[in-house]
Amino acid sequence: MITHLVNNCIRNARRFFAPACVLCGDPTDTGQDLCTPCDAALPRLASACPRCANPLDATHAALCGACQQSPPAFAVTRAVFRYEHPVDSLVHGLKYHGRLDLARVLGNLCAAELARPDASAIDVLVPVPLDRARLRWRGYNQSLELARPIAKRLGLPLDAFGVTRVRATRPQTELSRAERRKNVRRAFAVKGDYSGRNVAIVDDVMTSGATADALAAALHQAGAKRVEVWVVARA
Ligand SMILES: [Zn+2]
Ligand SMILES: [Zn+2]
Repeated sequence: MITHLVNNCIRNARRFFAPACVLCGDPTDTGQDLCTPCDAALPRLASACPRCANPLDATHAALCGACQQSPPAFAVTRAVFRYEHPVDSLVHGLKYHGRLDLARVLGNLCAAELARPDASAIDVLVPVPLDRARLRWRGYNQSLELARPIAKRLGLPLDAFGVTRVRATRPQTELSRAERRKNVRRAFAVKGDYSGRNVAIVDDVMTSGATADALAAALHQAGAKRVEVWVVARA
């Protein structure tokens, strides 16, 4: 009886002190941020256009129609998740509710998926900068916060100051696709020297790809050899 009580106490204490899954609150057996069932249920992006990560059906091997018609300035997009539940809530918490802890959670999840033998072919990570007004309003740049754990886990240099956003662009969500491209053109000023470098742009969500396209074009103008885009999720 006493042994049973003691065992129960130990079990409860373990539950109490074990790290809790950020999604369901259950203790995680692995010491990770997510329990195994929640991790397994994440909406990982399976088959997509290799250039822009536009979700495609599995039989479709080539580029999507949009990339065939007018290829973006970046060579490849690595999107880890589809922008669906619960990834959308995690990103939303990071962007609009000051949940900086979620940058580490999402960044580590992405690093695990992005780790691959040729990840070392990347010379530097460049988080998409915010313009000053939005940075002041939010207090931090979510792309930079996401890039930190990715850089750390993959052992890649992070360049947080090489590019600035010079023009306050209207929120992309209000605009059509054509307007978005116009909106972000000339939005970035590159101060860093990217001559001959392989750059990976880091961002939270890719929607139209116009922001990444504009930044990739600016990096190419600054001498970058090749530009990839790494995003948490593709909308
Ligand atoms: Zn869970
Ligand atoms: Zn595409």
